[in-house]
Amino acid sequence: MTVILLAPPGGGKGTQAKLLTKHYQMDHLSTGHMLRGALQQGTPLGREASKFVTAGLLVPDEIVIGIIKERLLAAETKGVILDGFPRTVAQAEALDHLLADTQRSVDLVINLEISPETSIQRLSGRRVCGQCGMEYHLLFYPPSVAGVCDQCGGGLVQRNDDVEEIIKNRWRVSEDERSTLQDFYAKRGLLRKIDGDGTIDQVFHRVVEVLGRTTQYG
Ligand code: AMP
Repeated sequence: MTVILLAPPGGGKGTQAKLLTKHYQMDHLSTGHMLRGALQQGTPLGREASKFVTAGLLVPDEIVIGIIKERLLAAETKGVILDGFPRTVAQAEALDHLLADTQRSVDLVINLEISPETSIQRLSGRRVCGQCGMEYHLLFYPPSVAGVCDQCGGGLVQRNDDVEEIIKNRWRVSEDERSTLQDFYAKRGLLRKIDGDGTIDQVFHRVVEVLGRTTQYG
Protein backbone atom coordinates (compact mmCIF):
# COMPACT_ATOMS: atom_id res chain seq x y z
CA MET A 1 0.00 0.00 0.00
CA THR A 2 1.54 3.32 -1.07
CA VAL A 3 -0.19 6.58 -0.12
CA ILE A 4 1.05 10.04 -1.16
CA LEU A 5 0.19 13.14 0.86
CA LEU A 6 0.18 16.41 -1.10
CA ALA A 7 -0.28 19.75 0.65
CA PRO A 8 0.94 23.32 0.57
CA PRO A 9 3.49 24.30 3.23
CA GLY A 10 1.73 24.08 6.60
CA GLY A 11 -0.99 21.88 5.11
CA GLY A 12 -0.32 19.22 7.72
CA LYS A 13 1.41 16.52 5.63
CA GLY A 14 3.98 15.73 8.31
CA THR A 15 1.50 15.81 11.19
CA GLN A 16 -1.07 13.62 9.45
CA ALA A 17 1.62 11.25 8.13
CA LYS A 18 2.88 10.65 11.69
CA LEU A 19 -0.65 9.87 12.93
CA LEU A 20 -1.40 7.58 9.98
CA THR A 21 1.89 5.75 10.45
CA LYS A 22 0.95 4.96 14.06
CA HIS A 23 -2.65 4.07 13.26
CA TYR A 24 -1.89 1.72 10.37
CA GLN A 25 1.70 0.64 11.23
CA MET A 26 3.00 1.96 7.94
CA ASP A 27 6.39 3.51 7.18
CA HIS A 28 6.61 7.30 6.99
CA LEU A 29 9.05 8.60 4.39
CA SER A 30 9.59 12.38 4.38
CA THR A 31 12.13 13.81 1.95
CA GLY A 32 12.09 17.14 3.85
CA HIS A 33 13.08 15.29 7.03
CA MET A 34 15.80 13.33 5.22
CA LEU A 35 17.21 16.53 3.67
CA ARG A 36 17.20 18.37 7.00
CA GLY A 37 19.02 15.39 8.56
CA ALA A 38 21.70 15.52 5.84
CA LEU A 39 22.00 19.30 6.33
CA GLN A 40 22.46 18.96 10.08
CA GLN A 41 25.08 16.27 9.68
CA GLY A 42 26.88 18.40 7.09
CA THR A 43 27.17 15.52 4.57
CA PRO A 44 28.18 16.46 0.97
CA LEU A 45 24.57 15.86 -0.07
CA GLY A 46 23.35 18.07 2.78
CA ARG A 47 25.71 20.87 1.76
CA GLU A 48 24.53 20.62 -1.85
CA ALA A 49 20.84 20.67 -0.84
CA SER A 50 21.13 23.41 1.77
CA LYS A 51 21.05 26.40 -0.60
CA PHE A 52 17.73 25.21 -2.02
CA VAL A 53 16.07 24.24 1.27
CA THR A 54 16.99 27.47 3.06
CA ALA A 55 15.60 29.54 0.15
CA GLY A 56 12.35 27.53 0.04
CA LEU A 57 13.15 26.17 -3.44
CA LEU A 58 12.96 22.62 -4.73
CA VAL A 59 16.09 20.51 -4.42
CA PRO A 60 17.12 19.03 -7.82
CA ASP A 61 15.29 15.82 -8.73
CA GLU A 62 18.37 13.60 -8.92
CA ILE A 63 19.39 14.42 -5.34
CA VAL A 64 15.91 13.77 -3.95
CA ILE A 65 15.33 10.59 -5.95
CA GLY A 66 18.74 9.36 -4.79
CA ILE A 67 17.93 9.86 -1.11
CA ILE A 68 14.49 8.24 -1.16
CA LYS A 69 15.38 5.25 -3.34
CA GLU A 70 17.02 3.11 -0.65
CA ARG A 71 14.40 3.91 1.97
CA LEU A 72 11.59 3.06 -0.40
CA LEU A 73 13.09 -0.29 -1.28
CA ALA A 74 13.76 -1.05 2.40
CA ALA A 75 10.07 -0.39 3.17
CA GLU A 76 9.05 -2.94 0.58
CA THR A 77 6.93 -5.24 2.74
CA LYS A 78 5.06 -2.52 4.64
CA GLY A 79 2.67 0.18 3.61
CA VAL A 80 4.31 3.52 2.95
CA ILE A 81 3.12 7.09 3.51
CA LEU A 82 5.05 9.50 1.29
CA ASP A 83 5.26 13.00 2.73
CA GLY A 84 6.80 15.66 0.46
CA PHE A 85 7.62 13.26 -2.37
CA PRO A 86 7.00 13.36 -5.29
CA ARG A 87 7.03 17.12 -5.96
CA THR A 88 7.65 17.09 -9.74
CA VAL A 89 6.49 14.92 -12.63
CA ALA A 90 10.06 13.60 -13.03
CA GLN A 91 9.93 12.48 -9.39
CA ALA A 92 6.46 10.95 -9.88
CA GLU A 93 7.72 8.98 -12.87
CA ALA A 94 10.82 7.86 -10.97
CA LEU A 95 8.53 6.74 -8.13
CA ASP A 96 6.47 4.63 -10.55
CA HIS A 97 9.63 2.89 -11.76
CA LEU A 98 10.97 2.30 -8.26
CA LEU A 99 7.66 0.82 -7.12
CA ALA A 100 7.27 -1.30 -10.26
CA ASP A 101 10.66 -2.92 -9.52
CA THR A 102 9.02 -4.47 -6.45
CA GLN A 103 5.56 -5.08 -7.98
CA ARG A 104 4.00 -2.07 -6.26
CA SER A 105 2.21 1.03 -7.47
CA VAL A 106 0.71 4.23 -6.02
CA ASP A 107 -2.66 3.38 -4.44
CA LEU A 108 -3.96 6.75 -3.31
CA VAL A 109 -3.01 10.45 -3.40
CA ILE A 110 -4.50 12.67 -0.71
CA ASN A 111 -4.47 16.40 -1.33
CA LEU A 112 -4.87 18.46 1.85
CA GLU A 113 -6.17 21.93 1.04
CA ILE A 114 -5.67 25.05 3.21
CA SER A 115 -5.68 28.82 2.68
CA PRO A 116 -2.44 30.89 2.44
CA GLU A 117 -3.41 32.63 5.72
CA THR A 118 -3.63 29.30 7.55
CA SER A 119 -0.24 28.34 6.11
CA ILE A 120 1.50 31.44 7.47
CA GLN A 121 -0.24 31.22 10.85
CA ARG A 122 0.66 27.54 11.29
CA LEU A 123 4.27 27.75 10.08
CA SER A 124 5.37 31.00 11.69
CA GLY A 125 4.30 29.60 15.09
CA ARG A 126 5.86 26.17 14.58
CA ARG A 127 8.79 25.15 16.80
CA VAL A 128 10.67 21.87 16.50
CA CYS A 129 12.78 19.99 19.05
CA GLY A 130 16.39 20.02 17.87
CA GLN A 131 16.93 16.66 19.58
CA CYS A 132 13.92 14.39 18.92
CA GLY A 133 12.03 16.27 16.17
CA MET A 134 8.78 16.65 18.17
CA GLU A 135 6.75 19.60 16.84
CA TYR A 136 4.95 22.33 18.80
CA HIS A 137 3.00 25.48 17.97
CA LEU A 138 3.32 28.68 20.03
CA LEU A 139 -0.49 29.18 20.02
CA PHE A 140 -2.14 25.85 19.25
CA TYR A 141 0.20 23.37 20.94
CA PRO A 142 2.73 25.11 23.20
CA PRO A 143 5.22 23.11 25.31
CA SER A 144 4.71 23.12 29.11
CA VAL A 145 7.93 25.15 29.56
CA ALA A 146 8.67 27.77 26.88
CA GLY A 147 11.46 26.66 24.54
CA VAL A 148 11.82 23.16 26.05
CA CYS A 149 10.60 19.85 24.58
CA ASP A 150 8.06 18.04 26.85
CA GLN A 151 9.21 14.70 25.48
CA CYS A 152 13.01 14.80 25.82
CA GLY A 153 13.97 18.17 27.38
CA GLY A 154 15.74 19.28 24.17
CA GLY A 155 15.76 22.91 23.03
CA LEU A 156 13.05 24.06 20.59
CA VAL A 157 14.10 25.85 17.42
CA GLN A 158 12.39 27.51 14.47
CA ARG A 159 13.08 25.92 11.07
CA ASN A 160 15.11 28.31 8.85
CA ASP A 161 12.43 28.07 6.17
CA ASP A 162 9.54 28.81 8.57
CA VAL A 163 9.95 32.61 8.40
CA GLU A 164 7.30 34.64 6.56
CA GLU A 165 9.32 35.61 3.46
CA ILE A 166 10.47 32.04 2.86
CA ILE A 167 7.00 30.64 3.61
CA LYS A 168 5.63 32.86 0.80
CA ASN A 169 8.29 31.51 -1.54
CA ARG A 170 7.50 27.93 -0.57
CA TRP A 171 3.78 28.59 -1.15
CA ARG A 172 4.44 29.91 -4.67
CA VAL A 173 6.67 26.95 -5.53
CA SER A 174 4.16 24.51 -4.09
CA GLU A 175 1.21 25.90 -6.08
CA ASP A 176 2.91 25.04 -9.39
CA GLU A 177 4.13 21.70 -8.18
CA ARG A 178 0.79 20.61 -6.75
CA SER A 179 -1.35 21.57 -9.71
CA THR A 180 0.93 19.55 -12.02
CA LEU A 181 0.88 16.55 -9.70
CA GLN A 182 -2.86 16.80 -9.13
CA ASP A 183 -3.41 16.56 -12.90
CA PHE A 184 -0.95 13.67 -13.13
CA TYR A 185 -2.77 11.59 -10.49
CA ALA A 186 -6.34 12.77 -11.23
CA LYS A 187 -6.00 11.29 -14.73
CA ARG A 188 -5.41 7.93 -13.09
CA GLY A 189 -8.37 8.35 -10.72
CA LEU A 190 -6.10 8.27 -7.65
CA LEU A 191 -6.59 11.82 -6.32
CA ARG A 192 -8.80 12.67 -3.31
CA LYS A 193 -9.16 16.25 -2.03
CA ILE A 194 -9.59 16.84 1.69
CA ASP A 195 -10.25 20.07 3.61
CA GLY A 196 -7.05 20.54 5.66
CA ASP A 197 -8.42 23.40 7.77
CA GLY A 198 -9.51 22.53 11.31
CA THR A 199 -7.93 20.74 14.26
CA ILE A 200 -5.41 17.92 13.82
CA ASP A 201 -8.05 15.41 14.96
CA GLN A 202 -10.75 16.71 12.61
CA VAL A 203 -8.43 16.45 9.62
CA PHE A 204 -7.19 13.02 10.73
CA HIS A 205 -10.77 11.68 10.83
CA ARG A 206 -11.40 13.01 7.32
CA VAL A 207 -8.25 11.28 6.05
CA VAL A 208 -9.06 7.96 7.75
CA GLU A 209 -12.56 8.10 6.31
CA VAL A 210 -11.23 8.54 2.77
CA LEU A 211 -8.63 5.81 3.24
CA GLY A 212 -11.34 3.45 4.53
CA ARG A 213 -13.60 4.16 1.59
CA THR A 214 -10.97 3.73 -1.10
CA THR A 215 -8.53 1.12 0.19
CA GLN A 216 -8.16 -2.04 2.26
CA TYR A 217 -7.56 0.21 5.32
CA GLY A 218 -11.26 0.37 6.25
P1 AMP B 1 8.96 19.79 3.62
O1 AMP B 1 9.49 19.35 4.95
O2 AMP B 1 8.28 18.69 2.87
O3 AMP B 1 8.14 21.05 3.71
O4 AMP B 1 10.26 20.17 2.73
C1 AMP B 1 11.14 21.20 3.12
C2 AMP B 1 12.05 21.61 1.95
O5 AMP B 1 12.85 20.48 1.55
C3 AMP B 1 11.32 22.04 0.67
O6 AMP B 1 10.96 23.42 0.72
C4 AMP B 1 12.39 21.75 -0.39
O7 AMP B 1 13.42 22.73 -0.37
C5 AMP B 1 13.01 20.46 0.12
N1 AMP B 1 12.30 19.24 -0.39
C6 AMP B 1 11.64 18.31 0.35
N2 AMP B 1 11.14 17.34 -0.42
C7 AMP B 1 11.50 17.66 -1.70
C8 AMP B 1 11.27 17.06 -2.98
N3 AMP B 1 10.54 15.92 -3.10
N4 AMP B 1 11.80 17.67 -4.08
C9 AMP B 1 12.52 18.80 -3.98
N5 AMP B 1 12.75 19.44 -2.81
C10 AMP B 1 12.26 18.88 -1.68
